[in-house]
Amino acid sequence: MIKITMATFHRVRSFFIAVISLALIGWCSLRLYAYFTHKTPPVFVLDGLQEGQTFGKTVNVEVRANNNYKIGCITAFIDDKKVAEEWVKTKQVKAPLILPTTTLADGEHTIVFTAQDTSYHANSRSQTFHIWIDNTPLNAAFTTSDYTVFQGKTLHLIVATNKRNCTGNLVFNTRTYQLTPTIDGSTSFECFIPIDCEAQIGEQTITAELQDLAGHKAKASCHVSIKAFDFPKQRGFSVSEEKVAQEKEAGMSMNMLNEALEKWLTESSPKKLWNGPFLYPIDVQRTTTPFGEIRTTSVSGRYLHKGLDLANRPRSIVWAAQHGKVIIKDRFFTTGNTVVLDHGLGVQTLYAHLENFADIEVGQTIKKGSPLGKVGMTGYANGYHLHWELRINNTPVDPSEWTTKVF
Ligand SMILES: [Zn+2]
Repeated sequence: MIKITMATFHRVRSFFIAVISLALIGWCSLRLYAYFTHKTPPVFVLDGLQEGQTFGKTVNVEVRANNNYKIGCITAFIDDKKVAEEWVKTKQVKAPLILPTTTLADGEHTIVFTAQDTSYHANSRSQTFHIWIDNTPLNAAFTTSDYTVFQGKTLHLIVATNKRNCTGNLVFNTRTYQLTPTIDGSTSFECFIPIDCEAQIGEQTITAELQDLAGHKAKASCHVSIKAFDFPKQRGFSVSEEKVAQEKEAGMSMNMLNEALEKWLTESSPKKLWNGPFLYPIDVQRTTTPFGEIRTTSVSGRYLHKGLDLANRPRSIVWAAQHGKVIIKDRFFTTGNTVVLDHGLGVQTLYAHLENFADIEVGQTIKKGSPLGKVGMTGYANGYHLHWELRINNTPVDPSEWTTKVF
């Protein structure tokens, strides 16, 4: 019994040794075969790096690579000089690389990444990028000429920097205003702040924060003085109950106009569409109600008239005050037949009480001086006139200032 068992044991052991040996020889052969025959270079992507990108002190890249054969090393060169080498020895890798640039001159440089595997052929793949290095600090200072502004007017702030293509904003009365280049490619940035007719008077400190393409940041501050404007009081104004009832029937609610204005504000052109001073939309014979007049009506109670009422003969043409896009063309209870144009950067003009509309459509781009409709008295009006508003971020300001100054 024992002899048979021992003999069987030896046979079984020999069998397993043979199988394991064969498996080892097979595995080694396959490895050798792969080592000598693998010819596909590693595939890799570089997160955080794009052609033409600008960097400050370091270039931070994350390398994600994979290959059917082990990757040996990933190497980075800037202007043919090796700046980083990451040894991997796995088939997949996700590795951050931080390349210092402080010894490089500001300007354009070439950066090359190479991933090589450990096979006999040492297959490798390279990716080349042209990048910009900018190690110059960003400077910023306000260069506005006048920091005094009256209620109902526009505060035009300008910040000068030493770089193009900066982004930035400033906060005024809890609202954030984006700074945009004064012209394309300029190193000066501006924003238009509407000072509400009822804005609190006094001094305010405004701080602008800017950032350049390399991520350098700069702050600048200025002191703004808001002065009270003595708005006139109206003599008296009424519209017959019959007309009020008719207009309520014919026009949509003012809430709908306000909602449309808010919605369109979010889609205002990020670039100035206007050029030069704004035009008065009609040939003004007289201003029947000045901007900011304090009035009381049975419909709205006491409020400030935040537009200009301009008169010429009935049904004379109303022209677009500036280049812009038609964003509203509808009838509302108080403003009657109403057209609103977007001029970019949150600046809109509103034309109310029109008799009818010219051949224009919402979404259409129109030029300064294009007809919008005719002077009428639709809505809450007791005579033919044009009610004209200029709004910045939905706050009405005195439009007449925009006809004399070039903003
Ligand atoms: Zn008016």
